[in-house]
Order: sequence, then structure tokens, then C-alpha cells
Amino acid sequence: MQTIGLIGGMSFESSAVYYRMINEAVRAQLGGLHSADILLHSVDFQSIVDLQKAGNWAGAAARLSTVARGLEAAGADCVMICTNTMHLIADDVQTSISVPLIHIVDETALRLKAQGAKRPLLLATRYTMEHGFYTDRMSTHGLDVIVPNADDRTVVHDIIFAELCAGSVRDCSRQRLHDIIERAKAAGADSVILGCTEICLILDPANLSLPGFDSTDIHAQAAVRFALEATPIQNAA
Ligand code: GLU
Repeated sequence: MQTIGLIGGMSFESSAVYYRMINEAVRAQLGGLHSADILLHSVDFQSIVDLQKAGNWAGAAARLSTVARGLEAAGADCVMICTNTMHLIADDVQTSISVPLIHIVDETALRLKAQGAKRPLLLATRYTMEHGFYTDRMSTHGLDVIVPNADDRTVVHDIIFAELCAGSVRDCSRQRLHDIIERAKAAGADSVILGCTEICLILDPANLSLPGFDSTDIHAQAAVRFALEATPIQNAA
């Protein structure tokens, strides 16, 4: 079995989901008391949020590259950045290591395409919805991503940071997300990307009015395929 290197803590609420999903999938496939071989470096999220707010993406890239190199030196056979947002600097992290980085956008795109989705709504942080790194990479896969309007982007971003990353799940926020999905459906969306690794804490992808794609689950399953089958990584770039 290959060793999975996780860069987590962004937030720890979603890293805990990754840890459970990866281990459950390995146990389901290998049986008995098998579990995954994982190295986790969980960062102090506030220090990353400060870099995000300052727009200091070079600083964030340097920080996560150092973490990735540490995971590789400790024996990781692959590296995962356990957040969509920080894939903004994923190319820098990949350049700093010699093992593959399993890219959350590519893995999500492959799943969408396999299921015939073409115009997915993206629910994510403001950085992911507005910086282009996500939508541009999705379009290299032939996917036409729809982002919510400005007011709805603020709603989604605030639910992620003020609530989900802080351990709070509120029914009224779930309803607001469902309302945003209904508006996107009326505008032609054919699917929904849970494009933030905490959104699965509030939305069940199987219980939406459009097919739902949970980036946390998709990314975790890609790690398990790599660990058990050494499946080659299919990065777009
Ligand atoms: N985990 C979130 C994501 O998938 C947001 C936290 C962050 O800003 O990294 O984008």
C-alpha cells in the first residue's frame, strides 16, 4: 500500500472527514482491520486565513510547499491539499515535490464528465469562485462552470468561514444553499459541485434537486485508488 500525504487543517472539520472517508474505503476494499497508511500535517488554519485575506498567495505557496516537502521526506508517495481554495497555489506545491499531487479539480472534473454533467453550479469560497484557477481548469476539461451571483457568493463564502469551518451547521443556512441551487437550476445548471471541503457537512449530495458532486469524497476516493492500485494521476496541466 502507498502512503498518502495529507496537508490538512484547512479546516480541521473537513480533514476529519477526509481521514474517515479514506480509512473507511480502505477497510471496505481490503477487509478485516485494514486501514490507510496516512501521513497528516495539519496546519494552524488561522495563519492560512491571514495569508488568504492579505492576498499573500506567494506566502501561502511557500508555506504549503514546505509542508509538502516534509511529507515527502517522511515517506509520502503522494500529496493531497485537503481544500479546494488552496489549489490556487497547487502548481507551486507540485513543483516543489517529486511525488504526485492528487489535484482536487481534475479529479472532480473527471467524475462530472463520467456522469455526463456539462454545466455544474460551483458552491465554494469566494477565492475559488472568483479567482479563475478553478473555473479555468474545469474548462480545460470541457466543463462550463456556473458561479452564483455576487450576493449569493457572499452568502456561500460566509456560511463556509463563519459557520462550517467553526463547527456550526445551521438549518437556515442549508435552506439558503438549497435556494441558490434552485436559482442556478432555473438558469440552466445541470449539476452541483460541493466545491469546498466543508460543504458536505451541511449538504447531502444525494439529497439535492440536481446531481451533487462532493469534492471531499471524490478527492478521498482518488487517494484510495492511488494507495491501493497506484493509479496514475491524470492532471490537466
Ligand atoms: N476547505 C475549504 C475549501 O475546500 C475552505 C477553506 C480554505 O480556505 O482553505 O475551499
